[in-house]
Amino acid sequence: MNTRDALLSMISPPAADSGNKVTVVGVGQVGMACAFSILSQGVSSDVVLVDVMEDKLKGEMMDLQHGALFLKNATITASKDYSVTAGSKLCIITAGVRQKEGESRLNLVQRNTDVLKHIVPNLVKYSPDTILLVVSNPVDILTYVAWKLSGLPKNRVIGSGTNLDTSRFRFLVSQKLGVSPGSVHGWIIGEHGDSSVAIWSGVNVAGVRLREINPAVGTDRDPENWKDVHKQVISSAYDVIKLKGYTSWAIGLSVASLASSILRNSNNVHAVSTYVKGQHDIVHDVFLSVPSVLGENGVSYIVKQQLNGDEHEALLKSANLMSEVQEGLKFD
Ligand code: NAD
Repeated sequence: MNTRDALLSMISPPAADSGNKVTVVGVGQVGMACAFSILSQGVSSDVVLVDVMEDKLKGEMMDLQHGALFLKNATITASKDYSVTAGSKLCIITAGVRQKEGESRLNLVQRNTDVLKHIVPNLVKYSPDTILLVVSNPVDILTYVAWKLSGLPKNRVIGSGTNLDTSRFRFLVSQKLGVSPGSVHGWIIGEHGDSSVAIWSGVNVAGVRLREINPAVGTDRDPENWKDVHKQVISSAYDVIKLKGYTSWAIGLSVASLASSILRNSNNVHAVSTYVKGQHDIVHDVFLSVPSVLGENGVSYIVKQQLNGDEHEALLKSANLMSEVQEGLKFD
């Protein structure tokens, strides 16, 4: 009798499927921050890592496994072979190239589209009922690409979108007001990137709108120049990349919050990139961030925000820009 059989007396076989399997494709700075946030917050106890760099993949897997004692008995596996991803409830795509210093997200589009051509069909082959969460940039366009390549219904293909921009915004406003980000309510919608839209008309603390106190808030006429906060949100990634070479922790935490809402079917509202044709007069087949109700079916509802004239116009501009870039994409 071997040691295991001498130690353990079986009463019933252990349950095989934890039901919250998450695959993370790409074990770079972003993928590992996502995996670490998901594991350390107990969002999933079954995380699979996939990448093309075998040594790095194995090293990251082993490093996380060595912390398993502190991770509520999580299973961490990794392989280049997509069969390990079978039965994933959620697949998070972080693979691809990132911006260099000063480079825009849109500049990465065709290179990362080519990366997705290999990844998406493999994910869907092994997990046909999965939800795809795209993080790679330019995230709104690549969410469209993933939707096209996957054949999944539009509610099951989501981009991490402006969930991160919204977090940056709420943090920066909170610093100015001296209350916590969780008590500052406000939304950044549209493109994750240079054409994102700040919904100043709704920014509030405890239901008190800043616009009621300062009607010029967020406009060029504002003597307090609150508009600068949105400019800082837009430049955030450029600033962090200039200082440390990449961004990781905030996107990892932001993705873990999305994974939690999906896997726990919580119906929390997040600004994520979703199919917006027909919303706010958008006529193109594009994905942009709007407040969306997230649960085990992905996006179940979009919140119909009341946008003012400027906000509406800025959102339509984002939609036109996405559509123009998509027209130039090569899928074969
Ligand atoms: P990174 O270079 O550190 O890691 C990228 C990883 O992708 C590498 O490990 C690479 O081997 C892997 N990869 C490349 N091709 C692959 C393939 N075909 N299959 C599997 N893996 C593959 O980059 P990073 O800093 O982790 O950034 C990753 C992406 O996330 C970039 O596109 C970046 O712009 C984006 N990003 C998005 C947000 C957001 O808010 N949406 C925030 C930060 C970064």
